[in-house]
Amino acid sequence: MSKKKDASPQTVTLPSNDLSRLFQVLQSRGYTILGPTVRDGAIVYDELDSPDDLPRGWTDEQEKGRYRLKKSGYGTYFSFAVGPHSWKQYLYPPRVRLWQMHKNGTGFELNAQNGPLKKYAFLGVRSCELHAIEILDRVLLQNGFEDPTYKARRKEALIIVVQCTAPASTCFCASMQTGPKAERGFDLAMTEVADGERHYFVLQSGSDAGREIVQELACAAATAEEIAAAEQAVKAAAERMGRTLDTHGLQAALYANREHPHWREVGERCLNCTNCTQVCPTCFCTTVEDITDLTGATAERWRRWDSCFTMEFSYLHGGSVRSSAGARYRQWLTHKLASWVDQFGAFGCVGCGRCIAWCPVGIDITEEARIMCAETVNQ
Ligand code: SF4
Ligand code: SF4
Repeated sequence: MSKKKDASPQTVTLPSNDLSRLFQVLQSRGYTILGPTVRDGAIVYDELDSPDDLPRGWTDEQEKGRYRLKKSGYGTYFSFAVGPHSWKQYLYPPRVRLWQMHKNGTGFELNAQNGPLKKYAFLGVRSCELHAIEILDRVLLQNGFEDPTYKARRKEALIIVVQCTAPASTCFCASMQTGPKAERGFDLAMTEVADGERHYFVLQSGSDAGREIVQELACAAATAEEIAAAEQAVKAAAERMGRTLDTHGLQAALYANREHPHWREVGERCLNCTNCTQVCPTCFCTTVEDITDLTGATAERWRRWDSCFTMEFSYLHGGSVRSSAGARYRQWLTHKLASWVDQFGAFGCVGCGRCIAWCPVGIDITEEARIMCAETVNQ
């Protein structure tokens, strides 16, 4: 008789000094670990060899058009909110070669392969980011067609959540119901607790792969007190959320205010730099570029991220459909908070606040939506 598999989630405690054991278990299973690290004055995602690469002792300050790192004064590993990078760059790369053709006698030989993919463990995924990945799943896997590049990367990714205990003043995931606590969709979820003299992680498995990792770590089961301390740390984060966005009636109000004069006012401030779309974990627009070598023997087609803030993005024969900055901002915000719901059944915004911090002129999606929805203005 075959032994029945234990499918119950497991909750254990990993002392912070043993974090390197998690790295070793992941590496022994063939994973390349991706996670937060300090580079160029920001917390970005990159390959990690050990816990020494994590931003231990660092935290961030974020406001409209402002992002700064500073020492936290604590020895915690994950006391910061999201930075300019998102997991989108690994699942849906900024540039990807779609195919390559080589001249072969009188014909061509097609190469649509891009080499083997690495098996990635995403360490430090926040709840808002997990929801952003779910949104990309809807767009790129469950929308009547499957994007093969995304599908292959998504299948290989092991998701390790680190529950958010340090939201920035730009965060509003609680309003979007996307955080700060991740409830599902992960392989492992960790909560960092530093209370008095103790510093540990409460680990919870969320899939068979996560359960196997927890079993290999062979940690003690978490006590009721440790689980309560972890819950309290995340609850406190929800109460410290920096911003709010009232989503009640938002879609209808935005549709009713297509001609609101405030769109023009935002357009006068917007630099069309595209930062907001590049840092956004859910923006998925791309363009394609064809290139050939000088001899004409090889041709390639590349896909790269694009942005609805450029004039070229809406260029049809004869000109751009959205020729003013205000029209382009209206397109972006109305898509995120209104027509995305019609297309994909959810908002296209998870409240991560990146577009607020990285907009060089401090345009704030929560403020603009509030103004746009305060009253219906028809011109
Ligand atoms: S629109 Fe802004 S706040 Fe919303 S998910 Fe994108 S970057 Fe984050
Ligand atoms: S809203 Fe801000 S970040 Fe976005 S394109 Fe305009 S200036 Fe750049």
